[in-house]
Amino acid sequence: MIAVSEAHGLIEQALWRPEAERVALQEASGRVLAEPLVAPFGQPRFTNSAMDGFAVRAAELEGATAEAPVLLERRVVVGAGHPTSAALGPGECAQIMTGAPLPEGADAVVMVEQTSGFERTPVTFSRPARAGQNVRREGEELEAGTTVLAEGTCLGAAELGVATSFGWTEARVWRRPRVALLCTGDELRSPGEPLGPGEIYDSNLTVLGELLRVVGAEVVTAERVRDDRPALETAFRRASERAEVVVSSGGVSMGQFDFVREVVVPLGFEQRFWKVAQKPGKPLLFAAGPGRAFFGLPGNPVSSLVCFLEYVWPALARLSGRPLGEKVSARLVGTFPREGKLHRFLFGRVWVEREGLYAAATPRHGSHMLTAALGANALLEAGPGAQDLTDGEALRARLLPGAHVAGSAKGS
Ligand code: AMP
Ligand code: MG
Repeated sequence: MIAVSEAHGLIEQALWRPEAERVALQEASGRVLAEPLVAPFGQPRFTNSAMDGFAVRAAELEGATAEAPVLLERRVVVGAGHPTSAALGPGECAQIMTGAPLPEGADAVVMVEQTSGFERTPVTFSRPARAGQNVRREGEELEAGTTVLAEGTCLGAAELGVATSFGWTEARVWRRPRVALLCTGDELRSPGEPLGPGEIYDSNLTVLGELLRVVGAEVVTAERVRDDRPALETAFRRASERAEVVVSSGGVSMGQFDFVREVVVPLGFEQRFWKVAQKPGKPLLFAAGPGRAFFGLPGNPVSSLVCFLEYVWPALARLSGRPLGEKVSARLVGTFPREGKLHRFLFGRVWVEREGLYAAATPRHGSHMLTAALGANALLEAGPGAQDLTDGEALRARLLPGAHVAGSAKGS
């Protein structure tokens, strides 16, 4: 049995550098950039108007008042997408729309509401203008050559939009890890099937499959296998041929029908550890070969979920080119059970108050109680110790994939 920190170290050692691939931006949502995107031109690309109104030379409106307005001839009308080659001469202005390129000679835009309007020329201006007003200057947002999106950026709506604003159609991103998921157990049935005596519905296939999807893995297969050696051998061989990461649940404990360990080793996975000093999830098995990893999660629903979040998710994040951030420290509200020799994980909630982060654990402690994860936004943990943690003591927490920190214990 090894410590949690050793287990992390051994997994880290076994991981490999991901490969990059070029994908269309339409397919790049949630992907991680493998190279920086550098602005090929400035933003805005050309100086343009921020308002519907009149482009003017500010100096001409000096001293303009309601009593002594300045009149300018409308030289041209400039619409967005229709630049003009005309330059403003003395006594002239240009009717201009938002986003239209500023004509040469103009250095300010006056909103139409502050003039005599679009209907007639000459146009009456009854107040002065400041050079640069209502003008979006070329390159004021970003200069050409600036790194717009750094390597390691995850592409969401804003990132994809910014990439599009530069006309990019593709991006070089890290390849998503290909993962095979296998859930083992003779007692397992799918929802919709009748349950015989001693049988239960397979929830791990759903939970782990959903998490794999959420954390951005490419799931090549997700299937259930019986506790039968030949069936396991076939399923694990097929899985390891198609995926670089194989995740299984069940069959790694001390039971007479726990064959997973014996089955994966001949497939080129070398056992790196089996059993971690933790609760739940003690029988966790990790094996690896060059460019491949195998996680044998224990079958109890909370154990497999905890092991996924603590070990598989960080590994997949690293293989996706975007390692997870640090865990957070929170102040405990209530109690948190500790074990003399085992690292303890429990689902719970983390929330923020003025003084910082707080956390409370689920009262359901059994590793078979999947409902302990309902409403949780974090996995809480405490190292081994003789005494339980109590109110106010510090505790570490990892926010669950996609979770938000609420402003109160009940979540909001
Ligand atoms: P095992 O790790 O195979 O010894 O299984 C430990 C416990 O988890 C047993 O009570 C199993 O019935 C249960 N279990 C195993 N796999 C699943 C699954 N896919 N869904 C729900 N419960 C499971
Ligand atoms: Mg089993």
